[in-house]
Amino acid sequence: MQGRVIRARGGFFDVYTTEEIERRCRARGIFKKRGQTVLVGDLVQLVPMGETEGVIEEILPRSTELLRPPVANITQAFVIFSIVEPLIQTYLLDGLLVAVQQAGIRPVIVFTKCDIATDQDKEDLFNQYRLTGFPIFFVSSRKEIGLEDVKEALTGEITVLAGPSGVGKSSLLNALAPHFSLETGGISEKMGRGRHTTRHVSLLSVGENAWVADTPGFSQLSLSVASQDVRLYYPDFFPFAQNCPYRGCLHLQEENCAVQAAVERGDLPAERLTNYQTLVNNKIEQEGRQY
Ligand code: GDP
Ligand code: ZN
Repeated sequence: MQGRVIRARGGFFDVYTTEEIERRCRARGIFKKRGQTVLVGDLVQLVPMGETEGVIEEILPRSTELLRPPVANITQAFVIFSIVEPLIQTYLLDGLLVAVQQAGIRPVIVFTKCDIATDQDKEDLFNQYRLTGFPIFFVSSRKEIGLEDVKEALTGEITVLAGPSGVGKSSLLNALAPHFSLETGGISEKMGRGRHTTRHVSLLSVGENAWVADTPGFSQLSLSVASQDVRLYYPDFFPFAQNCPYRGCLHLQEENCAVQAAVERGDLPAERLTNYQTLVNNKIEQEGRQY
């Protein structure tokens, strides 16, 4: 029998099985000897015991593995920012888009609190990110705008939420799955402040075959990409970068850089390039300090 580990606590693993029930499982001792750990998100082979228990026999290969939070097989990350209150910081957004992709996870951009944003703000943001090709959603948990589309995007996926506190991550989860009634003011962000020493993560069911990690993942701090690789995570630059004078062009100050030319012509949003350059320059500086 197969199942998905959705919770881990005190040596037990709660597994949602193909019978569509939860079984409280122990892992076989062999995992410890092999130095393997069962992670939330793992797809496992289990032997059922009784009505509601079981033993995990095997961990199936993982597609992705995050350390913070410790969770396997995340397929997509909602990169969540409010348009206003707090005002969007596109530099942070762009950094998160890089970090998520670097982990092998597909980003989905979610702009929240669209009930208090102007149409102009929304249009500008849409134009700034549309060339990335990442899905973009505008939602309001308060006015229940855009929630159906977001639900659809969650189906068939295991999603982690990313984004600064106060942007409405908990409110969005509550609006999508009211049965959890999470405390707003930050999903588990209170755990990060040391109320619990270990950060637990569980998967919440937000619909049929739709799971969301209850702990936000990714932070600007976890960005470990090398300065010359940042450009690999800017799909909106690719069509222009092909025409740069040489292959390793970093799109900083190079002469005849086609990405800079595209910005000057208005074919690429200027802020995407300036944020990118800040990110790369910060990375170069950090790398310099390591020697
Ligand atoms: P988190 O820290 O990212 O989990 O953010 P919360 O969900 O705790 O929300 C932070 C604040 O934003 C709370 O005061 C919410 O009431 C408010 N908020 C959340 N969603 C919306 C929304 O759609 N519209 C408006 N106007 N405010 C919202
Ligand atoms: Zn260039």
